[in-house]
Amino acid sequence: MAAKRGKYLSFKNIIFVFAVLSFAIMIFFIAKDNITSGLNNENAENKVVKKQSFLMGTVITQQVYGANGEIAADEVVRRLEEIEKRVTLNSADSEIYMLNEMAGKGTVSLSKDTIYILSVAKKYAELSNGAFDPTVGPLVKAWGISPGSGRIPGDEEIKSLLPLIDFNDLIIDEEKLTARLEKAGQSVDLGGIAKGYAGDEAIRIYREYGIESAYINLGGNVVTLGNKPDGSPWRIGVQNPRDITGNYVGIIEVSNKTVVTSGDYERYFERDGKRYHHIIDPRTGYPSESGLISATIVCDLSIDADALSTSVFVLGLEKGMELVEKLEGVEAILITNDKNIYVSSGLEGKFNFNEKATDFKYVGKYNRQ
Ligand code: FAD
Ligand code: MG
Repeated sequence: MAAKRGKYLSFKNIIFVFAVLSFAIMIFFIAKDNITSGLNNENAENKVVKKQSFLMGTVITQQVYGANGEIAADEVVRRLEEIEKRVTLNSADSEIYMLNEMAGKGTVSLSKDTIYILSVAKKYAELSNGAFDPTVGPLVKAWGISPGSGRIPGDEEIKSLLPLIDFNDLIIDEEKLTARLEKAGQSVDLGGIAKGYAGDEAIRIYREYGIESAYINLGGNVVTLGNKPDGSPWRIGVQNPRDITGNYVGIIEVSNKTVVTSGDYERYFERDGKRYHHIIDPRTGYPSESGLISATIVCDLSIDADALSTSVFVLGLEKGMELVEKLEGVEAILITNDKNIYVSSGLEGKFNFNEKATDFKYVGKYNRQ
């Protein structure tokens, strides 16, 4: 009896334990689900990592959404440091420094990064008929323009440097990963294109980490990935070229695009009421006076946008727009020194002019005179 009773009790106990365990497991999974989805809400779409660094002589701001934001943003900083190390002119260890040192003497072996940037730079030099020219180095050095300082070289000095500026003298072997400059005294300066490549690399890294929404600003070169986390497009302001930083002449909305501006308002100095800025016209040797004070390019790849913003700035309104309209998937917002704002055909109706920028007039699509 006792045994029967014991057996009965132990069976009851087993049922009881089973019921308690099932309940506990059920509660655990419900709780776990809640915890995970709670974390998801915080970590995935809503979690934002904001990181600011100083690289390539400028402030770099990243805004990265998603669970891997922190690690992706750190990886981007590491990669930008690597690119800077390769192409900077400020270090005797850089590949571009070596290429310039060997000008007129011989060929140098370069990394894939540097060969790629040089090749794209040469492509835009050809496309812009030399308005963009990576061999502009001797002129950039002679002017030495940085915010608030620089010097005005004499006419003779400029005349003596002009024969050195010729992208045809930059010989690149993309298979052997080598390059050379034909003449002694020539030098390459990638200041007008390298930040663009760095921006493209940032986007590649975000994607690699599964990020779907991010924004990076490399001293005025903006690159976006996807939409904002709420699904709306990124709103990018076009800097008012005659007002303090952060005041816009207008806004455009973009997803998966880059927006890059070249202007005469960031790096310049003034002498006798005249502004000398850092974008040099390789044909004259002087800061470009094409009639444009700002050129913004909107397209897919930031290396293209960077090279094109500088090219178009030097080409001016008519020739610049002609080049932009010729290229598929490339749009522009150009501002003239008489403060008129023009857009390319694909941006018609898409540029939200800021009515507070009362000095400026939004003309709309540029129609050739
Ligand atoms: P953009 O219009 O894109 O480029 C203008 C720049 O391109 C000029 O400054 C010149 O370098 C070059 N250029 C001028 N005319 C032409 C032309 N016709 N064709 C082609 N190129 C032209 N700045 C510092 O003060 N300190 C630093 O330590 C420093 N390090 C840098 C390291 C790297 C790797 C790079 C890429 C740039 C660095 N800079 C540094 C430069 C600085 O950030 C420049 O302001 C920037 O590259 C110019 O970009 P932008 O967007 O203002 O103008
Ligand atoms: Mg540029």
